Amino acid sequence: MSRKGEGNLRAFVRTLGCPKNEVDSERFRGVLSRAGYDRAPSPEEADLLLLNTCAFIEPAVRESLDALREAVSWRKRSPGRRLVLAGCLPGRYPPGPGERPEGVDLVAGPGDTASLEAYLGLFPAGRDLLLPEGSLYSRFLKISDGCDNACSYCTIPLIRGPYRGIRPDAIRESADQLVRQGAVEIGLVGQDTGRWSFEGMSLTDLLATLSEEHGDVWWRLYYVHPSHLPPGLLELMTARSNVVPYLDLPIQHASDHVLRRMGRPYTESRLRSLLERVGNCETLIAVRLTVMVGYPGESDRDFQTLLDFLGDFDCIRNLVVFRYYPEEGTREHSQGRELPGPAVVSDRLADVEALSEFFSAEWATRLSGKELKVVVDGPREGHCMYDAPFVDGRCLFDRAVSAPGRLRAEVMDFRGNDILVRPVIEDDSMGELESEPSSPANSGDTSPGEVSCLP
Ligand code: SF4
Repeated sequence: MSRKGEGNLRAFVRTLGCPKNEVDSERFRGVLSRAGYDRAPSPEEADLLLLNTCAFIEPAVRESLDALREAVSWRKRSPGRRLVLAGCLPGRYPPGPGERPEGVDLVAGPGDTASLEAYLGLFPAGRDLLLPEGSLYSRFLKISDGCDNACSYCTIPLIRGPYRGIRPDAIRESADQLVRQGAVEIGLVGQDTGRWSFEGMSLTDLLATLSEEHGDVWWRLYYVHPSHLPPGLLELMTARSNVVPYLDLPIQHASDHVLRRMGRPYTESRLRSLLERVGNCETLIAVRLTVMVGYPGESDRDFQTLLDFLGDFDCIRNLVVFRYYPEEGTREHSQGRELPGPAVVSDRLADVEALSEFFSAEWATRLSGKELKVVVDGPREGHCMYDAPFVDGRCLFDRAVSAPGRLRAEVMDFRGNDILVRPVIEDDSMGELESEPSSPANSGDTSPGEVSCLP
């Protein structure tokens, strides 16, 4: 039952969660477009609402349930509306066969475009169209899904299933599509990207191929498990100026005792040598670390080990801290071990956040007076190589930028992890990110005006 030709049917896709879900939403939008749905600017103007949910941890489940309640009431307000519940919430809590939550017309698991195609009466397209909602210029490309690591606290393998790598030809085809659509930065995502390889081709080989085929595009790698850093990756970041010098490492902790409990197969000493290698690279590589505090059995000493470890590395540009939540279905949850008290956990969160602010200030000193290349994410903001779009620090322009793409900008000042910049010129090459310091920060004309740059 194709809806094509039935008039102005419109669909709205709401995405919760991480960039991997963004990629799934782009594919859902592609299916909706093939079925004849135009894009609605808001749910109120839509005939179909697709809610792509997250259920990674308890707060994400709560947010998804709130969004579902809102969506059900949206559906009830006008007859004929259709509601699709998709993503990790039904992936984690699948309804029984033939069952659907009240008010929901279709339930589809994470990235399950096949169910949407069947529901809309379409034949499978083979390769999905990618239709973004936000920036055309910073895009994400999934290279794998699922995970085999079975960390004791994590629900992802339950939701997304076992690891599946995507074939290189399919990845390259999607990359071509994104570049044709105007992407100037492409982030490779997956639950465990570092594990990717295919018939002798390593992830480093894949990145080398992609960055050569699309020399004007910045390539960024996300979510590298510390045990799966691909050989040659740091060297490629040094050698290839469009493979951005950015390493996203979810280390979770640095105490061997906590890491063992978490089921993370590395030690503090291995983490140390990894970060020392990063710090010794010729190119300045910005490291993003995620850590978790409040794990069952995390003692004061364990936590101090984490703080001491973090304090030893000035390559850390973004430090993100999560609180441990006991998640149903995980190994840790089934053991029911005692958690550190709430006040202790709050203090530990605050300590890591303070350290994160310290790193921001350190990088402010490091970048002061430099010129950066910036991908434009909106008229007033973008991001540089050292920060991932939408999750890390932003570059805030001192004036509106009228054209999309990438530009050069002088660093003027800092606000937390954000960098205040003055756009100076369109991007003209993919050369080194930093140039010699130009005019001193905060000097010269900062009067508002418009700067154009090429796509
Ligand atoms: S590697 Fe990441 S996604 Fe996989 S089980 Fe561990 S925390 Fe979860």
